[in-house]
Amino acid sequence: MVFAHDTEMSLMSAAGLINTAGTADRADTLSTRAQLDGFVRDWVFTGNRTHDDVELQAVRALRPQLHQLWTAQDADTVAQGVNDLLRQGSALPQLVKHDHWDWHLHATDPMAPLATRMAVEAAMAMVDVVRTGELSRLRVCAADDCADVVVDLSRNRSRRYCESGCGNRVNVAAYRARRAEAGSVDPHSGG
Ligand SMILES: [Zn+2]
Ligand SMILES: [Zn+2]
Repeated sequence: MVFAHDTEMSLMSAAGLINTAGTADRADTLSTRAQLDGFVRDWVFTGNRTHDDVELQAVRALRPQLHQLWTAQDADTVAQGVNDLLRQGSALPQLVKHDHWDWHLHATDPMAPLATRMAVEAAMAMVDVVRTGELSRLRVCAADDCADVVVDLSRNRSRRYCESGCGNRVNVAAYRARRAEAGSVDPHSGG
C-alpha cells in the first residue's frame, strides 16, 4: 500500500469523478440526478443527500477544479488549490468509525452538501500525496486518444493506463502492428 487505505480510496473516487466528464467522443456520464445517484452508490459516499439539481450542478462544478489539481504536477500550485478546497469546505479533520468501516478520517460533517464532502475528501487525500512528494502518481492515461486521469498506486510506479481498458487496447494495437510489420496475416482482423 502506497498511501493509507482511505487516502487510496479517495484518490480512486476522485479520479472516477473527474473521468465522468465527457470527451469529444464520449458522453458525460454525470449529467442527470440518476447518474449522480449511481455514482454515489458505486463509490459508497455516505451522508446527507438532497437529490436536486443544485446538488448535481455543484458536484459537476467540482470536476474541473479537481482535474486542474490532478494535472498541475507542481506542488506549490496543488498545495494552494488543496488549501482553498479545505478552507471553502470548512474542513475539520476527525477520526470516525461508522457502518462496517474501521477508524478513518472525515473532515466534514455528514450533513454538509455532497459536493463539499467530495471536495474535502479529495483535498485531504491530496494532502497526503503532496506531503509525501508523490504527485507524479497522479497521471493522465498514456494512450494517445484518452484523456482520463489515472492514480498509480503500484509499488513500482508502473501504471500508465486508465481503468477503462486503454492498457489492453494499446497492447492489442501494438501486437497487431508488429504482426502487420512482420507481414503475417492476422486471422482475427477484418472480422
Ligand atoms: Zn466514512
Ligand atoms: Zn485511457
